[in-house]
Amino acid sequence: MQFTSTRDSQKIVSASQAIAQGLSDEGGLFVPCEFPKADLEAMKDMDYPTLAKTVLSGFLTDYDPAFLENAAKATYGQAFGGKAGHVAQVAEGLYSLELWHGPTCAFKDYALQLMPKLLVEAKKNLGRTEHTRILVATSGDTGKAALDGYHDVPGVSIAVFYPSHGTSEIQRLQMVTQEGSNVAVYAVKGNFDDAQTGVKRVFGDKQIAQKLEAENIRLSSANSINWGRLVPQIVYYFASYFQLVNTGKITMGERVDYCVPTGNFGDILAGYYAKRMGLPVGTLVCASNRNNVLTDFISTGTYDARREFHRTTSPSMDILVSSNLERLLFHAAGSDKAVAGYMNELNQNGVYTVSPEVLAVIRESFACGCAGDEEVAAEIKARYEQDHYLCDTHTAVAFKVAENYRARTGSKAPMVVLSTASPFKFPCDVLKALGLKAPESDFAAMEMLQAETGMPAPESLACLKNKPERFDTVIDPAEIADVALGKKS
Ligand SMILES: *Cc1c(COP(=O)(O)O)cnc(C)c1O
Repeated sequence: MQFTSTRDSQKIVSASQAIAQGLSDEGGLFVPCEFPKADLEAMKDMDYPTLAKTVLSGFLTDYDPAFLENAAKATYGQAFGGKAGHVAQVAEGLYSLELWHGPTCAFKDYALQLMPKLLVEAKKNLGRTEHTRILVATSGDTGKAALDGYHDVPGVSIAVFYPSHGTSEIQRLQMVTQEGSNVAVYAVKGNFDDAQTGVKRVFGDKQIAQKLEAENIRLSSANSINWGRLVPQIVYYFASYFQLVNTGKITMGERVDYCVPTGNFGDILAGYYAKRMGLPVGTLVCASNRNNVLTDFISTGTYDARREFHRTTSPSMDILVSSNLERLLFHAAGSDKAVAGYMNELNQNGVYTVSPEVLAVIRESFACGCAGDEEVAAEIKARYEQDHYLCDTHTAVAFKVAENYRARTGSKAPMVVLSTASPFKFPCDVLKALGLKAPESDFAAMEMLQAETGMPAPESLACLKNKPERFDTVIDPAEIADVALGKKS
């Protein structure tokens, strides 16, 4: 299987190159040149690691199959407590794909527990011996999931930058208590955009790259623009579908809709890839919070990032530029020139419009909707009181949007909502949504939520209280360059 760039189809690389390099030289993202056809009958009884190995080997054809098998086993066995790809029934025809049973209680674990192994193997496949220094700007979840995935991985070090006033207390503690000899965590003065812009500037700085090359160091990113982060996410669409088949909820071949709480468009794009591989996915419903740039795009064909940024109770979806949408544009438009043009307009003017034909192709597979914080809170309460199902704020955005979609279209198709974080990661907002007075501290809130619902708080969150904080450095965005150059400890 070969990969090409969304902005230059002349570029053809192997899977190892796509994963080791992350981004194509001219700024495009790597996409597969074709889609392997899935053998649904053969796959339907596989356990999660075997399913993962099967999906991965369809795309990562230059990787040793034995390596993929071992990596999938090591990643999705114990760490997910046997609950990888677990689907819970919420109501008649409504399901929740619980993606938060991994070590950091967010769906990003699926990709970030595997990706470090894929990166080390890619370097081996390519005969590369340099040290990889990973820089991550995070608004919360990505940072911890990346730290947990990359700690003590040989030949790699990782530095995470989070906004000094932008994460929840639990998210901060998850990061600053991280163990490992190759990790570092920095609070950056400002908001997430300040941290992200600082990191992007370093990646674009040729002088920094040159200085590091002299020391045999290469910078890399753990953000979801890397193909190695996308491909593991395809697996759980298959796993959820087969679970519904094997428990008699649906028959093989029946179409299932998926509603996905979306930020950078990675998670939902993986569903599109599963569909292209032959999984009977009906509509992929893109759910946004008040930062509804994608709702507007899928409704009108105009992507307009020139708007106010809102902080919401679903912070991992507070995004105005959804990087992975570029991949969908490439598949829908079938033209690198068109995509390069859109991205150029976005950079220059903050806005672009696709042709009616391209929009029509996108709307064959995608629908959309958005929900504000108040609707989200009401949704948490409704699901808990009516269905005895407790969900977090991000998942609640998707439940609300799924409900609206079904009411609007009259669709009776089974609907799977992707549940992207544990409710215990956002205990204060969840308590308030249930109509309770949330205590000051996240830990007290976690205990209260546990007592109220009888649901146990995940051990990895509850134990944070007793862990030593290892990192307390606060830096200016401009100092991210010093960290990249190894001048700051
Ligand atoms: C990252 C994240 C999302 C958004 O996923 P994308 O792949 O960026 O669209 C949604 N919910 C939670 C909890 C997340 O951490």
